[in-house]
Amino acid sequence: MSLVTSKEILQLALAERFAVGAFNANNMEMVQAIIEAAQEERTPVILQVSQGAIRYAGLDYAVGLVKIAADQVDVPVVLHLDHGTSYEQNVLCLRAGFTSLMYDGSKLPYEENVAISKRVCDIAHIVGIPVEAELGRVLKATDGVTPEEVEAAMTGPDQAKEFVERTGADSLAVAVGSVHAMKSRQATLDISRIEAIRQKAGVPLVLHGSSGVKHESVAEAIEHGICKVNVATYLNQAFVRGMREGFERHPDEVDPRKYLSISRENIKEAVREKIRLFRSNDRIDSSGRFKSPPRQYRSIDLGGSEE
Ligand SMILES: [Zn+2]
Repeated sequence: MSLVTSKEILQLALAERFAVGAFNANNMEMVQAIIEAAQEERTPVILQVSQGAIRYAGLDYAVGLVKIAADQVDVPVVLHLDHGTSYEQNVLCLRAGFTSLMYDGSKLPYEENVAISKRVCDIAHIVGIPVEAELGRVLKATDGVTPEEVEAAMTGPDQAKEFVERTGADSLAVAVGSVHAMKSRQATLDISRIEAIRQKAGVPLVLHGSSGVKHESVAEAIEHGICKVNVATYLNQAFVRGMREGFERHPDEVDPRKYLSISRENIKEAVREKIRLFRSNDRIDSSGRFKSPPRQYRSIDLGGSEE
């Protein structure tokens, strides 16, 4: 199936109270594992690449890999930019064929974040591509953050409403208690804040830093308005664990495929586990369409028709 945008998928997720997994990929094996798990679980899926992944793999390789992967399956696949920190990066990805963008101005003063987020939305919306923006700051575990700092960086519901109105953002990444790059699941989310932001802002909300959040807290957050959950660290851990297993099992092996195939299998199982946690599995029928969608979305073409 051709790539689809994230717009209708996230609106559906909001209406139906599930979340779409947004899985970060850095190489071919990761793309393959994510796409195979999505196909088997009958779920829409967001494959996302960060600026770091673009530097590592190259923009054209990233787009090429994900397009080829999407063509192999009959579930909706979105190609999303994760944490684009400039207007220019977003325009480059728009031109390269991304079907979903993110502008992250969360480190900037509020007014600058509003201004650049709006510029990105304005240009992307001309060609029908939705934009995720970020308000509040999801901090990084490697910077040694304290609970007080996490709390102070959280998204304010009233400001979120104003931010969405002024920028036109299609979805909003929120700081609600998670931290990027956590290696173990310890964090719990501020559910009442998520509920308040959803009610005020009215757009699908995005959870970053999910790898460090307890499963029950993720599930509860989805009930209250989280519609896209980013997963990166958990996949990287699965990948590296596979390589270590490979080295131990075959210490004299010189064929890297012996190691990488274990990594690929590990990622596939990690993705499957998250898809089921997010309750996005078993949503897509054999013709690539959402199963019995709610009435207001019935006419939307998600690109699943035969060509
Ligand atoms: Zn993030």
